Amino acid sequence: MTTDRASVETLDVLASIASGCTECTLAEGRTNVVFGAGSPNADVLIVGEGPGKNEDEQGIPFVGRSGQLLDRLLGEIDLERSDVYIANVVKCRPPGNRDPRPDEIDSCKGYLKRQIELIDPTVVITLGNFSTKLLLKTTTGITRMRGRAYEWWGRFLVPTFHPAAALRGGEGVTNNIREDLAIVRSIIDGNLEYIDEH
Ligand code: URA
Repeated sequence: MTTDRASVETLDVLASIASGCTECTLAEGRTNVVFGAGSPNADVLIVGEGPGKNEDEQGIPFVGRSGQLLDRLLGEIDLERSDVYIANVVKCRPPGNRDPRPDEIDSCKGYLKRQIELIDPTVVITLGNFSTKLLLKTTTGITRMRGRAYEWWGRFLVPTFHPAAALRGGEGVTNNIREDLAIVRSIIDGNLEYIDEH
């Protein structure tokens, strides 16, 4: 039976429900559910794709090479991990790091929706195609979506490349992420001039 995540009152209760979740087959191969980490009162919530091997082993999002790059780029806009909250579209590792499937995303999306409501951030950063397409309900790829902020459910959403794409794609992609994080910085600083209607 599907638990009604929309009525869960705290992140801790939501995390404990997720820790026993068996709503999709990703549950069968996981070591840990990677629910999310960071400040429950964060102004900035970052949404990745899904846990990899390191994250599955440790139960913490973005602890591998992508995470190290993410930390460095956040540091460049004066944000530390403890200032933000980091979550993923799917909370369990897809086997062999394959893409999450639509049915898996569908089973899991209620957790992310409630995380966003409970944390109530000013800005949501989506990393890569999966989180961007899910939250902005678009089929347009990240290359065309990035580079601006969107007004989104009473807050701002800034899509950018996944750090794994920067690890593969080099300095150009890394600089694109820097440009997008500069938009985030300007929003946090109260400068909203970048905002477009979605
Ligand atoms: N990639 C993601 O999308 N999420 C993680 O937690 C780690 C790598």
